[in-house]
Formats: sequence, C-alpha cells, structure tokens
Amino acid sequence: MRVSRLMLVTLRDDPAEAEIISHKLLLRGGYIRRVASGIYVYLPLLWRVLQKISAIVREEMNAVGGLETLLPQLQPADLWERSGRWQGYTAGEGIMFHLVDRQQRSLGLGPTHEEVITALAADLLRSYRQLPVCLYQIQTKFRDEIRPRFGLMRGREFIMKDAYSFHAHEEDLRRAYGELDGAYRRIFGRCGLRAVAVEADSGAIGGSASQEFMVTAEAGEDLILTSPDGTYAANQERAVSLASEAVPLIAGEVTLLATPGQTSIEALCAAHGFDPSQIVKVLLLLARFAAGPSQPLLISLRGDQQLNPIKLANALTARLGEERGTLLDVEPISAEQLQSQGLKPLPFGYLGPQLEDAVLAGARDWSPSFLRLADATAAALDIFVCGANQPEAHRVGARWSEAGTTPESLDLRAAQAGDRCLHDPSQLLGARRGIEVGHIFQLGRKYSEALGARFTNEAGEEEALWMGCYGIGVSRLAQAAVEQHHDSNGIIWPVAIAPFELIIVIANVQEEAQVALAEQLYGELQRAGIDVLLDDRPERAGVKFKDADLIGIPWRVVVGRGAQAGTVELVERQGALKQELAASELLATVLSGLVDQRRGLASGAA
Ligand code: ATP
Ligand code: MG
Repeated sequence: MRVSRLMLVTLRDDPAEAEIISHKLLLRGGYIRRVASGIYVYLPLLWRVLQKISAIVREEMNAVGGLETLLPQLQPADLWERSGRWQGYTAGEGIMFHLVDRQQRSLGLGPTHEEVITALAADLLRSYRQLPVCLYQIQTKFRDEIRPRFGLMRGREFIMKDAYSFHAHEEDLRRAYGELDGAYRRIFGRCGLRAVAVEADSGAIGGSASQEFMVTAEAGEDLILTSPDGTYAANQERAVSLASEAVPLIAGEVTLLATPGQTSIEALCAAHGFDPSQIVKVLLLLARFAAGPSQPLLISLRGDQQLNPIKLANALTARLGEERGTLLDVEPISAEQLQSQGLKPLPFGYLGPQLEDAVLAGARDWSPSFLRLADATAAALDIFVCGANQPEAHRVGARWSEAGTTPESLDLRAAQAGDRCLHDPSQLLGARRGIEVGHIFQLGRKYSEALGARFTNEAGEEEALWMGCYGIGVSRLAQAAVEQHHDSNGIIWPVAIAPFELIIVIANVQEEAQVALAEQLYGELQRAGIDVLLDDRPERAGVKFKDADLIGIPWRVVVGRGAQAGTVELVERQGALKQELAASELLATVLSGLVDQRRGLASGAA
C-alpha cells in the first residue's frame, strides 16, 4: 500500500474530544473518526489492526475446538422475556437499544448473545453425543452505555468476540473454562499485551465462576486488587479482604450525645474523638425491581468502611429477585421521595439501625418494612456509636440487641488497597488500574433452564445443558494495546497486530535514484510476504518521519542519500535498533527480525 493512496490524514495537535493518550493517538494517527458519542469509523489503518487481532483470536479459538458462526444482531424481545432479562436490559439503566418494527413487535439490538445462542441450542442439540460444542463469532455489539467515553474503550457500537459452550455436565464445563483461560492468555500474549487474570463478578449475566483479563494501564476504568505474592487478584467489584480491627469502644450505659451539625463520620470523630471504626453508619436506599413494590433498604456499615454496590446488588437479587424480577436500580432515598410517598421527613445524617418500620407506614408504592442488611464488620461490633433517629443527636454505647430487629450480616464492604489478604493476613492488598479486555464465565444452567435447552444424557434422561460464555473486546483491545505501547512521538504497535509491519520512506521523491530503489525494495518485500507501506508522498522527509512514528509502524526503512550507493537505513520504532545497510541485505535482515515478532513471541507469549 502507498501512503499517497491511503487517505491518511494525521493531526499535529491533540483533539479536544480525547482525554487519554491512546484515544488521542488513534485520532491523530488517522485510525478512527468520531461520528457520534460512542460511535466511530474504523479507518483502513485500524481495520487492518482489527483484522490481525481477529486472526489471532480465530487461530486460538479454533485450536480449542471453537466453531465460528454469525448470529443475528436484531433479536426478538420474547427471547429476552423468556430469560427474564428484557426489563433489566431495556428499563432503568438497561443498556440495550430497542425498537418496535412495523408489525408492532419489539426487538433489541444485541448487546450480547446468550438468548439467541441458547434458543439455537434448544433447537439443535438433543443428545449428549453432540456435546461438547463451542460456537463463537466476531461481530459488532450495541450497548447504550450510560457513559460512553475514551474512544473505542467504551463505545456504544463495538466489536466483540463472543463464544458460548454447551456441555453434558459441570466437570466438562470446568474443563472447557480452563482451556479457554489458556487460549485467552495466548491471545493477549500474542497481541503483545501485558494482561492479568482476575476474579470477577458475574454481574447481570449470572452464573458462578468468572474471570476477567485486565490490561494493566493507568487509564483503566477498573480497579484490581492483588496480593504481593501474586496468588490473589480480583476486580474490586468482587474482591474480599480482612478489614482492620475495630478500635474497641468502652462499654457503658447508652447515652444520648448532642451532635449539632455533625452529619458526617469525620465531623463526628473530630468533635468527640471517636475512631470511625466505632461508628455504625446507615444508608437509607431504595431498590427498584421490574415487578412489585420498591424496597426500602437500611444498610449498616462500619464507619471506616465503604459500600460495594455490586455486592449489594447481588445480595438483593438473591433475596428478592425470584419474587420481584430484575433489579433495576438502587438509589439513596431523598426528602422529596419521602414526601411524594406521603411519609414524614426523616432526620438525614442522624439515622441509626434502630429506625422503625413504622416510618414507612402508609407509603404509596413502597414495601412497608425495611430490608435490613449489615456488613459483617458492623454486625461484629458489640457496642457502637450510631445516629439516634432524631435531629442533632447520636447514641453512644448502642448494641444490636437493643436495636430491635437485628440485620442480616453479610459481606457488603468494598475491599481496598492496604487491607489484609484473606489467604495470608501478613500480606496487604495492592491496587492497580486495568482495562478489561476479556471475560470468561461458567454460566451453569441459568439460560438453558429458562429457554428450555435440554438434552438426553447417557442414562437416557432429559436435563438442561451446562453453559459457559467467553468474551473479548476486540476493538477495545486494539486501543488497550496503544495505551500500553506508545512514546512521546506516537504509537509503537506490537508487530503481530501492527497495520503494516514496515514502512519505506522515500526521503525525497524528486530524486530518481531514491524512487527507483524504494520501488524495487517495496516490490521485493511485498513478494516476501511482508506487510509494507511505501511513503511516496511529495512531502518533506521530516514530515514523513513524524507520521511514520505517529502511526507506529514497527520497522522503518529510509531510502535517502545513500540510494546512489545502494544503502538504506533501517530503524526499529521501539528505538532499539538503527543501522545503515546495503539494500541487498535488507530483506534477509528484516525477515530474521520479524519471524518471532510476528507470532508475538518477542512480547512474551507462552
Ligand atoms: P464493562 O465492565 O467494561 O462495561 P462488561 O463486563 O459489561 O464490560 P462483557 O459483557 O464482559 O463486558 O463483554 C465482553 C468484553 O467486551 C469485555 O471484556 C470488554 O472487553 C468488551 N466491552 C464491553 N463493553 C464494551 C464497550 N462499551 N466498548 C468496547 N468494548 C466493550
Ligand atoms: Mg465483563
């Protein structure tokens, strides 16, 4: 390919729309253009990168027995109603784009494909003899993200590889999950990424075990907690740890303490010398479900701990999901909401766990009693300080026994850096940021049961299929690679996913000798199967070097003054190598350098 024919438009300055370096570089290097929020054109350069990533993904998926397929993106609502996810994905904070067709039937644009594939399995899979099966596709997904941002990192339209496996029993699902784990490690390694596998929350997808693959980078939206010995790594959404010991409160009678204006833990501690771990704070929240009344929540936490909203959502789904359907959202209850329910105002900032259900009596469309949950660190306190449920006062020396209803104790707190590790309390968790590029799940039988995907087992009995699902954000991965591989001059693509492996720059296109030699080398390298770009533009050499660095082609050959004498300059983008050599030696030199890098071996793949 010739740069003059590439429609290449590079930008000198950082575009205002981009915040993180990889997004800036992809825009500046002519890889992507924004069409609307979270919607991008993948320009020819990026398309080549995506094709190379896809090729690696295909090779590794095929190697573990995957079958490539292509599922429809338009999905009928009734499939999603059968799995119980239509409401959750379309109402509230649901992220599925949906529409009504000319026959007034509802459809969704696929954010993921569990429903479609499970219905297909119900149709085609009948006997254990057909199992296991693993189908995958590489396709555009649509998600109406609440906060699309960072270019391809969080798009509303993006490319995903998703795979779904079907098994006759759970052990076989576990085996496949292990194999996919290996395939994923090879894929990311071959793409030149440093990725770590972490325990993950299974979220709206459901199921049991799940693991995410995180490309470590400062710009990552996820927080990963890891133990120094490397044996524990988890997404903060999921992470568990030992909290610090609480500072004991001296036992005594319950007393009422005047605390005017002290509505925060900090203010209360500053005024009275309490330690935050001696305080029980309560959060007054409202959970909305797809069906039934909204549920007021009274969540007790130790004053030095923070709520993990994912753990709370999972606890709510486990307790009320069956009865009230999908959890739509959880929000703090406001004074206005109390008023619109016809309820009396509450002393916000002074609430305690003893708050009585009576305060909810007569609510228009809320449940009349609280669901009371306490994080285990709060539940473990014998004696504590808490709000007195009256303005400007706290109770000192409170106990759970006198709070009336004792809340259910469970893990609701957010683990954080500095917490002690469960497997070895002498180690402290450290934090790193990560970009989630892949996620594998053991789904179990949730979808097969809901959609009637059953098979006859070896004993001749009918049962539901065991399922796994496995995603890779292909377009996000391309940008994550830039986030990990760049310098102040631009992108430094790992060879295996670079749009071109080598660029020949003609220093001065007015010089016939330079043009002739460059054309000759261009043909020679192409015939040898190297992805070559020829910068034949009538620009100054400096401009072309800058562009070559910006777009990040791993190898550059400069055909300049030495052309007369038959010499060229070979430069490695990483800066490791720069040499003058005879044009006749170029091919052999480049080939020997490329062989390993092409398969990603130079970047540490196992
Ligand atoms: P996230 O937590 O980042 O929103 P997710 O957990 O919802 O992602 P999955 O359903 O696990 O995503 O999708 C599989 C993969 O698709 C993710 O690991 C990620 O790499 C990619 N992905 C998900 N959402 C987006 C998006 N909006 N834009 C680009 N890639 C995405
Ligand atoms: Mg995920």
